[in-house]
Amino acid sequence: MTVREDVALSELTTLRVGGSARYVLTLSSPEEIPAALAFTRERGLPFVVLGQGSNVLAPDSGYPGVVLLMRIPGLLWSEAENHTRASVGAGVPWDEFVRAAASRALWGVENLAGIPGTVGAAPVQNIGAYGAEVHTIIESVTVYDAQNGEARTIPRDECGFSYRDSRFKHEPHLIITSVAFTLAPDGSPRTDYADLIAARAAGKDLSTPGAIGETVREVRAAKFPDLRAYGTAGSFFKNPILTQEAYDALSLRYRTEIAPYGSIPLYPVPGRVKIPLAFILDKLLGMRGFRLGPTFLFGNQPLVLVADAHASAADVDALARNIEQKVYDATGISIEREVRDLTFHEYRDENAKHES
Ligand SMILES: Cc1cc2nc3c(=O)[nH]c(=O)nc-3n(C[C@H](O)[C@H](O)[C@H](O)COP(=O)(O)OP(=O)(O)OC[C@H]3O[C@@H](n4cnc5c(N)ncnc54)[C@H](O)[C@@H]3O)c2cc1C
Repeated sequence: MTVREDVALSELTTLRVGGSARYVLTLSSPEEIPAALAFTRERGLPFVVLGQGSNVLAPDSGYPGVVLLMRIPGLLWSEAENHTRASVGAGVPWDEFVRAAASRALWGVENLAGIPGTVGAAPVQNIGAYGAEVHTIIESVTVYDAQNGEARTIPRDECGFSYRDSRFKHEPHLIITSVAFTLAPDGSPRTDYADLIAARAAGKDLSTPGAIGETVREVRAAKFPDLRAYGTAGSFFKNPILTQEAYDALSLRYRTEIAPYGSIPLYPVPGRVKIPLAFILDKLLGMRGFRLGPTFLFGNQPLVLVADAHASAADVDALARNIEQKVYDATGISIEREVRDLTFHEYRDENAKHES
């Protein structure tokens, strides 16, 4: 375990904003966790786990606690009756795992190619893209529970997965150390998503997990800004989920006021409908490319909030609040952030001594 003091959070997060973390402890094995937690307890400090920082907003005031930087490696393959199991360390870069699965011609993870971040963070918000969600291929999640010092393996149906959500988002004492996935040697392409339908029409090969992964990475390259030049955490908000009646009323307004023969796209979810917020921002509010100071909505995908090099966390928050208000005023929908404040997921041991 390495210990660093006063580390700039802008160096640890893809939005590239924020002050300094008081301490950063880099974890390279689950066995290091008890010592890391003893370190935080002795100082009476809270901790927060960070992977690649691609889904958090770090405050300008910094973080006056301990960041546990998840770097546990490892990728183990084993054969089960009808599938292959991959047990993957929480610190493994997500796309490295996707490429490893593709090199074995295994199906299940290909539509999630190119998503930034670590394997350990994937279950936290149940990552999803191009018609796939990670919970469908997760067999179990192994955690270290900071509340009782026990390691345990949680089966998928106890993980509380739903759209961009899981129990891990609400139980910050659970430190994910590895994830077991179920991948299939036989599978078929899931290409019923608009971008993949278009890619197929353009002659792209979508016949193998590797080919799909490459196409998805190409599509994504056009949808997101270059992470080397700009700060971003990808889609900043969740897509709203509405009742059918609320959807019908909004769609009617859209047809009456904006596009006589148009309709708002929808994706059915159990008992409700999900609508693309990018569509609302673009077609209803005309906010594609909208700029507020050093932050803006990406021209190619208005749900993606982008920060110029000199932006601050307050600038990002100001743009987010501006959008939240405009969407509410125009539609009555309170949108929810997908990107959370760093401290949202902190854990403080109430029995720890407090630093004087
Ligand atoms: C350009 C871009 C595109 C993106 N596209 C998508 C997309 O298509 N679909 C999608 O779902 N997401 C997308 N994201 C969001 C992001 O990539 C995912 O949420 C990813 O899983 C975050 O991984 P991370 O390691 O960076 O997590 P972090 O940002 O470091 O952490 C995210 C949250 O998880 C917690 N956490 C992290 N690791 C652990 C752990 N081991 N144990 C317990 N808690 C942990 C953190 O405390 C924090 O609350 C995108 C982001 C960017 C920048």
